[in-house]
Amino acid sequence: MLLGAIADDLTGATDIALAFAREGLRTVQFNGIPNERALASNVDAVVIALKSRTIPAFEAVTLSRRAASWLRAHNVKQVVFKYCSTFDSTDKGNIGPVTEALLEELGETMTIACPSFPENGRTVFQGHLFVGDTLLSESSMRDHPLTPMTDSNLIRVLQRQTALPVGLLATTDVRAGQERVAARIKEAAAQNLRILIADAATVEDLNTIGKACSDRMLVTGAAGIGGGLARNHAAAIQGEPRSTEFVWPQGRTVVLAGSCSVATRDQVNHVVGLGYPATKIDPIAIASGTLDVSSVAEWAIASEGWPPIIYSSSDPKDVFKAQEVLGREEAGALVEQFLGKLAAALRSTGFSRFIVAGGETSGAVSAALSVNALEIGPEIDPGVPWTRSIDADGPALALKSGNFGAPDFFEKARRMCR
Ligand code: ADP
Repeated sequence: MLLGAIADDLTGATDIALAFAREGLRTVQFNGIPNERALASNVDAVVIALKSRTIPAFEAVTLSRRAASWLRAHNVKQVVFKYCSTFDSTDKGNIGPVTEALLEELGETMTIACPSFPENGRTVFQGHLFVGDTLLSESSMRDHPLTPMTDSNLIRVLQRQTALPVGLLATTDVRAGQERVAARIKEAAAQNLRILIADAATVEDLNTIGKACSDRMLVTGAAGIGGGLARNHAAAIQGEPRSTEFVWPQGRTVVLAGSCSVATRDQVNHVVGLGYPATKIDPIAIASGTLDVSSVAEWAIASEGWPPIIYSSSDPKDVFKAQEVLGREEAGALVEQFLGKLAAALRSTGFSRFIVAGGETSGAVSAALSVNALEIGPEIDPGVPWTRSIDADGPALALKSGNFGAPDFFEKARRMCR
Protein backbone atom coordinates (compact mmCIF):
# COMPACT_ATOMS: atom_id res chain seq x y z
CA MET A 1 0.00 0.00 0.00
CA LEU A 2 1.53 3.26 -1.13
CA LEU A 3 -0.58 5.72 0.81
CA GLY A 4 -2.90 5.55 3.78
CA ALA A 5 -5.08 8.30 5.17
CA ILE A 6 -6.80 8.60 8.51
CA ALA A 7 -9.62 11.12 8.17
CA ASP A 8 -11.44 12.71 11.09
CA ASP A 9 -14.79 12.62 9.31
CA LEU A 10 -16.48 10.90 6.47
CA THR A 11 -16.75 13.65 3.88
CA GLY A 12 -13.15 14.58 4.60
CA ALA A 13 -12.25 10.98 3.88
CA THR A 14 -14.10 11.03 0.58
CA ASP A 15 -12.40 14.28 -0.30
CA ILE A 16 -8.89 12.84 0.12
CA ALA A 17 -9.89 9.49 -1.44
CA LEU A 18 -10.87 11.48 -4.53
CA ALA A 19 -7.52 13.31 -4.46
CA PHE A 20 -5.74 9.93 -4.46
CA ALA A 21 -8.00 8.39 -7.12
CA ARG A 22 -7.57 11.42 -9.40
CA GLU A 23 -3.84 10.67 -9.54
CA GLY A 24 -4.57 7.13 -10.64
CA LEU A 25 -4.15 5.35 -7.29
CA ARG A 26 -6.66 2.51 -6.78
CA THR A 27 -8.29 3.77 -3.65
CA VAL A 28 -10.72 2.18 -1.22
CA GLN A 29 -12.36 4.10 1.58
CA PHE A 30 -13.38 2.31 4.76
CA ASN A 31 -15.85 3.75 7.20
CA GLY A 32 -14.23 2.92 10.50
CA ILE A 33 -11.26 0.65 11.06
CA PRO A 34 -11.43 -2.17 8.52
CA ASN A 35 -11.25 -5.83 9.35
CA GLU A 36 -8.23 -7.80 8.11
CA ARG A 37 -9.78 -9.66 5.22
CA ALA A 38 -11.33 -6.56 3.71
CA LEU A 39 -8.29 -5.45 1.70
CA ALA A 40 -7.91 -6.60 -1.91
CA SER A 41 -4.32 -7.16 -2.99
CA ASN A 42 -4.37 -4.57 -5.80
CA VAL A 43 -5.22 -1.53 -3.65
CA ASP A 44 -2.73 1.36 -3.83
CA ALA A 45 -4.30 3.61 -1.23
CA VAL A 46 -6.65 3.17 1.71
CA VAL A 47 -8.57 5.93 3.40
CA ILE A 48 -9.95 5.18 6.84
CA ALA A 49 -12.85 7.44 7.75
CA LEU A 50 -13.26 7.99 11.47
CA LYS A 51 -15.90 10.10 13.13
CA SER A 52 -13.35 11.63 15.44
CA ARG A 53 -13.50 15.36 14.80
CA THR A 54 -15.73 16.30 17.70
CA ILE A 55 -15.56 13.32 20.06
CA PRO A 56 -13.49 13.59 23.28
CA ALA A 57 -9.77 13.83 22.43
CA PHE A 58 -8.78 10.62 24.21
CA GLU A 59 -11.29 8.66 22.12
CA ALA A 60 -10.06 10.28 18.90
CA VAL A 61 -6.50 9.35 19.88
CA THR A 62 -7.42 5.72 20.56
CA LEU A 63 -9.26 5.34 17.26
CA SER A 64 -6.51 7.07 15.28
CA ARG A 65 -3.82 4.89 16.84
CA ARG A 66 -5.78 1.77 15.91
CA ALA A 67 -6.22 3.04 12.35
CA ALA A 68 -2.47 3.74 12.10
CA SER A 69 -1.53 0.32 13.38
CA TRP A 70 -3.92 -1.29 10.85
CA LEU A 71 -2.24 0.67 8.06
CA ARG A 72 1.19 -0.31 9.33
CA ALA A 73 0.16 -3.95 9.46
CA HIS A 74 -0.62 -3.58 5.74
CA ASN A 75 2.84 -2.15 5.02
CA VAL A 76 1.75 1.38 4.26
CA LYS A 77 4.58 3.58 2.96
CA GLN A 78 3.17 6.93 4.07
CA VAL A 79 0.24 8.15 6.17
CA VAL A 80 -1.76 11.35 5.96
CA PHE A 81 -3.81 12.51 8.94
CA LYS A 82 -6.65 14.28 7.11
CA TYR A 83 -8.69 17.02 8.72
CA CYS A 84 -10.79 19.82 7.31
CA SER A 85 -9.28 22.57 5.18
CA THR A 86 -10.85 25.03 7.60
CA PHE A 87 -8.97 23.30 10.47
CA ASP A 88 -12.25 22.41 12.22
CA SER A 89 -11.43 21.75 15.86
CA THR A 90 -11.79 23.26 19.31
CA ASP A 91 -9.20 24.18 21.94
CA LYS A 92 -9.80 20.71 23.43
CA GLY A 93 -8.62 19.07 20.18
CA ASN A 94 -8.58 16.91 18.27
CA ILE A 95 -5.97 17.86 15.66
CA GLY A 96 -3.18 18.40 18.22
CA PRO A 97 -3.69 15.27 20.34
CA VAL A 98 -4.16 13.01 17.30
CA THR A 99 -1.04 14.40 15.59
CA GLU A 100 0.97 13.72 18.76
CA ALA A 101 -0.34 10.15 18.95
CA LEU A 102 0.27 9.41 15.26
CA LEU A 103 3.83 10.72 15.42
CA GLU A 104 4.47 8.27 18.23
CA GLU A 105 2.59 5.41 16.60
CA LEU A 106 4.42 5.83 13.29
CA GLY A 107 7.85 6.38 14.83
CA GLU A 108 8.26 9.96 13.57
CA THR A 109 9.42 13.04 15.45
CA MET A 110 8.33 15.84 13.16
CA THR A 111 5.50 16.65 10.79
CA ILE A 112 3.73 19.47 8.98
CA ALA A 113 0.15 20.72 9.23
CA CYS A 114 -1.01 21.70 5.75
CA PRO A 115 -4.75 22.47 5.55
CA SER A 116 -4.45 24.52 2.37
CA PHE A 117 -6.86 23.50 -0.41
CA PRO A 118 -6.57 26.21 -3.09
CA GLU A 119 -9.13 24.55 -5.37
CA ASN A 120 -11.74 25.30 -2.73
CA GLY A 121 -10.37 28.70 -1.78
CA ARG A 122 -8.57 27.63 1.42
CA THR A 123 -5.09 29.12 1.56
CA VAL A 124 -2.56 29.72 4.33
CA PHE A 125 -0.21 32.71 4.57
CA GLN A 126 2.08 33.45 7.53
CA GLY A 127 0.23 30.71 9.35
CA HIS A 128 -3.14 32.45 8.88
CA LEU A 129 -5.94 30.55 7.18
CA PHE A 130 -8.10 32.27 4.58
CA VAL A 131 -11.45 31.15 3.16
CA GLY A 132 -11.50 32.87 -0.21
CA ASP A 133 -10.41 36.44 0.52
CA THR A 134 -11.62 36.33 4.14
CA LEU A 135 -9.75 35.36 7.27
CA LEU A 136 -11.08 32.12 8.78
CA SER A 137 -12.24 33.96 11.91
CA GLU A 138 -14.29 36.37 9.80
CA SER A 139 -15.76 33.66 7.57
CA SER A 140 -18.99 31.80 8.27
CA MET A 141 -16.88 29.17 10.06
CA ARG A 142 -17.01 31.40 13.14
CA ASP A 143 -20.67 30.31 13.48
CA HIS A 144 -20.17 26.57 12.97
CA PRO A 145 -22.54 24.62 15.25
CA LEU A 146 -19.83 22.27 16.61
CA THR A 147 -16.41 23.78 15.87
CA PRO A 148 -16.70 27.57 15.69
CA MET A 149 -13.38 28.91 14.32
CA THR A 150 -12.68 32.31 15.85
CA ASP A 151 -8.90 32.52 15.46
CA SER A 152 -7.22 32.50 12.03
CA ASN A 153 -3.69 32.06 13.35
CA LEU A 154 -3.20 28.32 13.09
CA ILE A 155 0.02 28.34 15.06
CA ARG A 156 -1.96 29.72 18.01
CA VAL A 157 -4.92 27.43 17.35
CA LEU A 158 -2.81 24.27 17.18
CA GLN A 159 -0.54 25.29 20.07
CA ARG A 160 -3.61 25.45 22.31
CA GLN A 161 -4.26 21.79 21.47
CA THR A 162 -0.79 20.31 21.98
CA ALA A 163 2.30 20.48 24.15
CA LEU A 164 4.47 19.86 21.05
CA PRO A 165 6.09 23.14 19.92
CA VAL A 166 4.40 24.47 16.77
CA GLY A 167 6.21 26.66 14.21
CA LEU A 168 5.83 27.98 10.67
CA LEU A 169 6.89 26.75 7.23
CA ALA A 170 6.67 30.13 5.55
CA THR A 171 5.81 31.06 1.98
CA THR A 172 9.35 32.37 1.43
CA ASP A 173 10.69 28.86 2.10
CA VAL A 174 7.97 27.13 0.08
CA ARG A 175 8.53 29.39 -2.94
CA ALA A 176 12.30 28.74 -2.71
CA GLY A 177 11.66 25.11 -3.69
CA GLN A 178 11.60 21.59 -2.33
CA GLU A 179 15.24 21.50 -1.10
CA ARG A 180 14.65 24.66 0.91
CA VAL A 181 11.47 23.20 2.40
CA ALA A 182 13.26 19.98 3.36
CA ALA A 183 16.08 22.06 4.89
CA ARG A 184 13.62 24.25 6.81
CA ILE A 185 11.94 21.16 8.27
CA LYS A 186 15.35 19.88 9.42
CA GLU A 187 16.28 23.28 10.89
CA ALA A 188 12.95 23.45 12.69
CA ALA A 189 13.52 19.99 14.16
CA ALA A 190 16.92 21.17 15.43
CA GLN A 191 15.13 24.11 17.07
CA ASN A 192 12.92 21.54 18.78
CA LEU A 193 9.83 22.45 16.79
CA ARG A 194 7.67 19.39 16.14
CA ILE A 195 4.80 20.56 13.92
CA LEU A 196 5.06 23.25 11.22
CA ILE A 197 1.99 25.04 9.91
CA ALA A 198 2.66 25.08 6.17
CA ASP A 199 1.90 28.17 4.14
CA ALA A 200 0.47 27.26 0.73
CA ALA A 201 -1.69 29.18 -1.72
CA THR A 202 -1.38 27.24 -4.97
CA VAL A 203 -1.22 23.68 -6.25
CA GLU A 204 2.44 24.37 -7.10
CA ASP A 205 3.09 25.19 -3.43
CA LEU A 206 1.45 21.90 -2.45
CA ASN A 207 3.55 19.99 -4.99
CA THR A 208 6.73 21.56 -3.60
CA ILE A 209 5.76 20.66 -0.04
CA GLY A 210 4.60 17.20 -1.14
CA LYS A 211 7.93 16.48 -2.82
CA ALA A 212 9.88 17.74 0.19
CA CYS A 213 7.81 15.42 2.40
CA SER A 214 7.98 12.37 0.13
CA ASP A 215 9.89 10.30 2.69
CA ARG A 216 8.07 11.49 5.80
CA MET A 217 6.02 8.74 7.38
CA LEU A 218 3.38 11.21 8.62
CA VAL A 219 2.00 14.29 6.94
CA THR A 220 -1.09 16.08 8.24
CA GLY A 221 -3.48 18.32 6.35
CA ALA A 222 -6.37 18.46 3.91
CA ALA A 223 -6.99 16.90 0.51
CA GLY A 224 -4.72 19.42 -1.24
CA ILE A 225 -1.53 17.99 0.25
CA GLY A 226 -3.06 14.53 -0.21
CA GLY A 227 -3.05 15.22 -3.96
CA GLY A 228 0.56 16.43 -3.81
CA LEU A 229 1.68 13.23 -2.04
CA ALA A 230 -0.37 11.02 -4.37
CA ARG A 231 1.46 12.59 -7.34
CA ASN A 232 4.77 11.42 -5.83
CA HIS A 233 3.49 7.85 -5.62
CA ALA A 234 1.65 7.91 -8.96
CA ALA A 235 5.00 7.90 -10.75
CA ALA A 236 5.66 4.46 -9.28
CA ILE A 237 2.58 2.88 -10.85
CA GLN A 238 2.51 4.56 -14.24
CA GLY A 239 1.42 2.39 -17.12
CA GLU A 240 -0.63 -0.06 -15.11
CA PRO A 241 -4.35 0.05 -15.99
CA ARG A 242 -6.18 1.35 -12.94
CA SER A 243 -9.68 2.55 -13.62
CA THR A 244 -12.78 0.42 -13.16
CA GLU A 245 -16.29 1.30 -14.27
CA PHE A 246 -18.58 2.96 -11.74
CA VAL A 247 -21.87 1.05 -11.76
CA TRP A 248 -24.96 2.98 -10.67
CA PRO A 249 -27.52 1.20 -8.50
CA GLN A 250 -31.09 1.49 -9.77
CA GLY A 251 -33.59 3.24 -7.53
CA ARG A 252 -34.76 6.63 -6.33
CA THR A 253 -32.70 9.63 -5.24
CA VAL A 254 -33.10 11.66 -2.03
CA VAL A 255 -31.27 14.69 -0.65
CA LEU A 256 -30.55 14.83 3.11
CA ALA A 257 -29.00 18.04 4.42
CA GLY A 258 -27.87 18.38 8.03
CA SER A 259 -25.23 21.04 7.44
CA CYS A 260 -25.99 24.63 8.44
CA SER A 261 -23.14 26.11 6.41
CA VAL A 262 -23.77 29.07 4.12
CA ALA A 263 -22.96 26.93 1.07
CA THR A 264 -25.44 24.21 2.03
CA ARG A 265 -28.18 26.72 2.84
CA ASP A 266 -27.70 28.21 -0.65
CA GLN A 267 -27.81 24.74 -2.17
CA VAL A 268 -31.03 23.93 -0.31
CA ASN A 269 -32.62 27.18 -1.48
CA HIS A 270 -31.55 26.44 -5.04
CA VAL A 271 -33.38 23.10 -5.29
CA VAL A 272 -36.38 24.28 -3.29
CA GLY A 273 -36.59 27.05 -5.91
CA LEU A 274 -36.43 24.44 -8.68
CA GLY A 275 -39.42 22.64 -7.15
CA TYR A 276 -37.86 19.72 -5.23
CA PRO A 277 -40.46 18.55 -2.68
CA ALA A 278 -38.98 19.81 0.60
CA THR A 279 -39.45 19.14 4.31
CA LYS A 280 -37.58 21.09 6.95
CA ILE A 281 -36.89 19.30 10.22
CA ASP A 282 -36.19 21.06 13.48
CA PRO A 283 -34.40 19.56 16.53
CA ILE A 284 -36.87 21.11 18.97
CA ALA A 285 -39.78 19.44 17.15
CA ILE A 286 -37.88 16.13 17.15
CA ALA A 287 -37.19 16.43 20.89
CA SER A 288 -40.81 17.24 21.70
CA GLY A 289 -42.06 14.30 19.64
CA THR A 290 -44.10 16.41 17.20
CA LEU A 291 -41.91 15.25 14.29
CA ASP A 292 -41.20 11.58 13.67
CA VAL A 293 -39.18 9.61 11.14
CA SER A 294 -42.00 7.44 9.81
CA SER A 295 -44.23 10.35 8.82
CA VAL A 296 -41.36 12.10 7.00
CA ALA A 297 -40.45 8.79 5.31
CA GLU A 298 -44.06 8.33 4.16
CA TRP A 299 -44.07 11.87 2.81
CA ALA A 300 -40.83 11.24 0.89
CA ILE A 301 -42.07 7.95 -0.54
CA ALA A 302 -45.28 9.62 -1.72
CA SER A 303 -43.42 12.55 -3.31
CA GLU A 304 -43.21 12.69 -7.10
CA GLY A 305 -41.14 14.29 -9.83
CA TRP A 306 -37.95 15.78 -8.41
CA PRO A 307 -36.06 13.98 -5.63
CA PRO A 308 -37.38 14.88 -2.19
CA ILE A 309 -35.12 16.95 0.06
CA ILE A 310 -35.22 16.75 3.85
CA TYR A 311 -33.10 19.35 5.58
CA SER A 312 -32.41 20.83 8.99
CA SER A 313 -30.14 23.55 7.60
CA SER A 314 -30.87 26.77 9.48
CA ASP A 315 -29.27 30.14 9.97
CA PRO A 316 -27.04 30.75 13.03
CA LYS A 317 -29.88 32.46 14.93
CA ASP A 318 -32.13 29.37 14.76
CA VAL A 319 -29.26 26.98 15.44
CA PHE A 320 -28.40 29.00 18.54
CA LYS A 321 -32.03 28.89 19.67
CA ALA A 322 -32.16 25.10 19.36
CA GLN A 323 -28.82 24.77 21.15
CA GLU A 324 -30.02 26.98 24.01
CA VAL A 325 -33.03 24.73 24.52
CA LEU A 326 -31.36 21.35 23.94
CA GLY A 327 -27.60 21.86 24.30
CA ARG A 328 -25.16 21.96 21.39
CA GLU A 329 -24.36 18.25 21.26
CA GLU A 330 -27.90 17.06 21.94
CA ALA A 331 -29.36 19.25 19.17
CA GLY A 332 -26.77 17.94 16.71
CA ALA A 333 -27.24 14.32 17.77
CA LEU A 334 -31.03 14.52 17.43
CA VAL A 335 -30.78 15.76 13.85
CA GLU A 336 -28.07 13.24 12.94
CA GLN A 337 -30.05 10.32 14.38
CA PHE A 338 -33.21 11.48 12.67
CA LEU A 339 -31.58 11.72 9.24
CA GLY A 340 -29.80 8.38 9.76
CA LYS A 341 -33.04 6.57 10.63
CA LEU A 342 -34.81 8.29 7.75
CA ALA A 343 -32.11 7.13 5.31
CA ALA A 344 -32.49 3.54 6.53
CA ALA A 345 -36.28 3.73 6.18
CA LEU A 346 -36.02 5.10 2.64
CA ARG A 347 -33.39 2.55 1.63
CA SER A 348 -35.77 -0.27 2.52
CA THR A 349 -38.38 1.21 0.16
CA GLY A 350 -36.21 1.49 -2.93
CA PHE A 351 -34.17 4.67 -2.51
CA SER A 352 -30.62 3.86 -3.59
CA ARG A 353 -28.95 7.23 -4.31
CA PHE A 354 -28.34 9.45 -1.31
CA ILE A 355 -27.06 12.99 -1.68
CA VAL A 356 -25.97 14.07 1.81
CA ALA A 357 -24.75 17.47 3.02
CA GLY A 358 -22.67 17.74 6.19
CA GLY A 359 -19.67 15.82 7.49
CA GLU A 360 -21.21 14.58 10.73
CA THR A 361 -24.50 14.06 8.94
CA SER A 362 -22.82 11.92 6.28
CA GLY A 363 -21.24 9.81 9.02
CA ALA A 364 -24.62 9.24 10.63
CA VAL A 365 -26.33 8.39 7.33
CA SER A 366 -23.60 6.00 6.17
CA ALA A 367 -23.62 4.22 9.53
CA ALA A 368 -27.40 3.88 9.41
CA LEU A 369 -27.10 2.42 5.89
CA SER A 370 -24.38 0.01 7.13
CA VAL A 371 -21.96 1.24 4.48
CA ASN A 372 -18.53 -0.08 5.47
CA ALA A 373 -16.44 0.55 2.40
CA LEU A 374 -16.75 2.83 -0.61
CA GLU A 375 -15.35 2.98 -4.10
CA ILE A 376 -14.80 6.42 -5.59
CA GLY A 377 -16.83 7.49 -8.63
CA PRO A 378 -17.14 10.63 -10.76
CA GLU A 379 -16.43 14.05 -9.26
CA ILE A 380 -19.44 16.35 -8.81
CA ASP A 381 -17.69 19.49 -7.57
CA PRO A 382 -14.11 19.95 -6.30
CA GLY A 383 -13.54 17.51 -3.44
CA VAL A 384 -16.89 15.71 -3.74
CA PRO A 385 -17.30 12.53 -5.80
CA TRP A 386 -20.19 10.14 -6.14
CA THR A 387 -19.24 6.99 -4.25
CA ARG A 388 -20.72 3.55 -4.01
CA SER A 389 -20.79 0.99 -1.27
CA ILE A 390 -18.58 -1.91 -2.39
CA ASP A 391 -21.23 -4.42 -1.23
CA ALA A 392 -23.27 -6.03 -4.00
CA ASP A 393 -26.36 -3.85 -4.65
CA GLY A 394 -25.00 -1.25 -2.27
CA PRO A 395 -26.32 2.34 -2.44
CA ALA A 396 -24.59 5.26 -4.16
CA LEU A 397 -23.73 8.18 -1.93
CA ALA A 398 -22.67 11.75 -2.63
CA LEU A 399 -21.23 12.86 0.71
CA LYS A 400 -20.59 16.58 0.82
CA SER A 401 -18.75 18.51 3.47
CA GLY A 402 -21.05 21.38 4.43
CA ASN A 403 -19.04 24.18 2.88
CA PHE A 404 -18.27 22.42 -0.39
CA GLY A 405 -19.98 22.63 -3.75
CA ALA A 406 -21.55 25.24 -6.01
CA PRO A 407 -25.14 26.45 -5.41
CA ASP A 408 -26.47 23.89 -7.94
CA PHE A 409 -24.58 20.99 -6.31
CA PHE A 410 -27.63 18.83 -5.51
CA GLU A 411 -29.08 19.19 -8.99
CA LYS A 412 -25.70 18.55 -10.60
CA ALA A 413 -25.31 15.40 -8.50
CA ARG A 414 -28.81 14.23 -9.45
CA ARG A 415 -28.20 14.76 -13.16
CA MET A 416 -25.00 12.70 -13.08
CA CYS A 417 -26.85 9.54 -12.01
CA ARG A 418 -27.30 6.97 -14.77
P1 ADP B 1 -20.76 20.58 8.24
O1 ADP B 1 -20.14 19.68 7.22
O2 ADP B 1 -21.35 21.84 7.69
O3 ADP B 1 -19.85 20.82 9.41
P2 ADP B 1 -22.06 18.64 9.89
O4 ADP B 1 -23.12 17.64 9.50
O5 ADP B 1 -20.68 18.09 10.08
O6 ADP B 1 -22.05 19.78 8.79
O7 ADP B 1 -22.39 19.40 11.22
C1 ADP B 1 -23.57 20.08 11.41
C2 ADP B 1 -24.06 19.76 12.80
O8 ADP B 1 -25.13 20.65 13.10
C3 ADP B 1 -24.61 18.34 12.91
O9 ADP B 1 -24.29 17.77 14.17
C4 ADP B 1 -26.10 18.57 12.78
O10 ADP B 1 -26.87 17.53 13.35
C5 ADP B 1 -26.25 19.87 13.52
N1 ADP B 1 -27.48 20.58 13.13
C6 ADP B 1 -28.09 20.53 11.94
N2 ADP B 1 -29.18 21.30 11.90
C7 ADP B 1 -29.27 21.86 13.12
C8 ADP B 1 -30.19 22.77 13.70
N3 ADP B 1 -31.23 23.24 13.00
N4 ADP B 1 -29.98 23.15 14.99
C9 ADP B 1 -28.91 22.68 15.67
N5 ADP B 1 -28.01 21.83 15.19
C10 ADP B 1 -28.17 21.41 13.91
